[in-house]
Amino acid sequence: MKKIVKFGGSSLADAEHFAKVGQIIKSDPDRRYVVPSAPGKRVSGDTKVTDLLYQCEELAGEGKDFSGVLREIRGRYDDIIKGLNIDLSLEDEFTVIAKKLGAGAGRDYAASRGEYLNGIVMAHYLDVPFIDAAEVIFFKENGDFDADRTNEVLGERLKETERAVIPGFYGANPDGSIRTFSRGGSDITGAIVARAAHADVYENWTDVSGFLIADPRIIKRPRKIETITYLELRELAYMGASVLHEDSIFPVRKEGIPINIRNTNDPEDEGTWIVESTAKKSKYTITGIAGKKGFCSVSIAKDMMNSEVGFVRKVLQAFEDQDISIEHVPSGIDTMTVFVHEDEFVSKEQAVVSGIYRLAKPDVLEIESGLALIAVVGRGMKSTRGTAGRIFSALAHARINVRMIDQGSSELNVIIGVDNDDFERAIEAIYAIFVETQI
Ligand code: ASP
Repeated sequence: MKKIVKFGGSSLADAEHFAKVGQIIKSDPDRRYVVPSAPGKRVSGDTKVTDLLYQCEELAGEGKDFSGVLREIRGRYDDIIKGLNIDLSLEDEFTVIAKKLGAGAGRDYAASRGEYLNGIVMAHYLDVPFIDAAEVIFFKENGDFDADRTNEVLGERLKETERAVIPGFYGANPDGSIRTFSRGGSDITGAIVARAAHADVYENWTDVSGFLIADPRIIKRPRKIETITYLELRELAYMGASVLHEDSIFPVRKEGIPINIRNTNDPEDEGTWIVESTAKKSKYTITGIAGKKGFCSVSIAKDMMNSEVGFVRKVLQAFEDQDISIEHVPSGIDTMTVFVHEDEFVSKEQAVVSGIYRLAKPDVLEIESGLALIAVVGRGMKSTRGTAGRIFSALAHARINVRMIDQGSSELNVIIGVDNDDFERAIEAIYAIFVETQI
């Protein structure tokens, strides 16, 4: 077996966490390739090393003295090194970093040093080879990740070594300069390494025991999702649920490698498995609930709309012309409604309205704001009778008015529109009927 293990910043924030991570790696010889993030927050209110590095770079850019912040960063690593009792000095590394920052090496270079240095510390601590991500992870001229070249070079490099530490979050541009992924991008590096190594599993270690069925800010201590498919995850992530960087799914999904989200502070917990497909039924009919506030609806009615060829296209054209993305389009015989993000829509609202009148000549047009959308997601829904009925009776019992219903064509989700003010109560009601009553 070959496992890739990625550890997030909170799992590597100090020596104590580092030691826990060391134990996790050593407890399973299959955990061969390690991808660390930069040290994260030790306590709430603390600053991540990545953010301190961005601060350094900003000061350097303004020609100001950044040595104080760099010293603070150095202190974070020195504390870890001392706490782990390893024989390592980062003196030379910090001299190079200070020089390069002073010479204008840029934002991405600065940010990447958090992972780079943590990788060196981790490799030393575990006594395994260190592979600089700049030598094996590549970007194209236009800034896109170069999957083919990376997979080839990294794949070859990994064949040469049984074990290695490869820092997350960055790689190299064609000219050799450093480029980072977007924030949280060490998750992507982990997935890229898993693909190149033909791993059996990509373990992503963080500070929670996997995905929860609902947002813990709304539901007190929600249950965990044991197994979720990539598609279900995408639906939930789109609606705001997040544990993993969205782009980290693609490299492993291509190879059919499952992701296992694990908790560094509770290593015995099996966490959540993210898989392509599974015969495992989820414990409840639904897999998860997520949602977002802040939508507007534009409802249009026109007699005989259903027989007018091209009507829907013309309406949607008015949104496209203003570069507005569309969320959902439920429709009736002579009516259709377009859901859009309020913050994207408001400033362009009148241009869209006049566009619709010009292109589609509706009889009635009505705009409403302050709507929330909730996605109830579950691969089990299509084979279970009465799911929709239960959702709506739960909402009716909670005296929540349903403003919109849309069932995704994959039968993987039901989207419900409610007033922003009813959002939390609606999620509570749906969670209660499916999870708490355990049917
Ligand atoms: N250290 C980077 C960040 O804070 C990348 C990561 O942690 O994945 O965004």
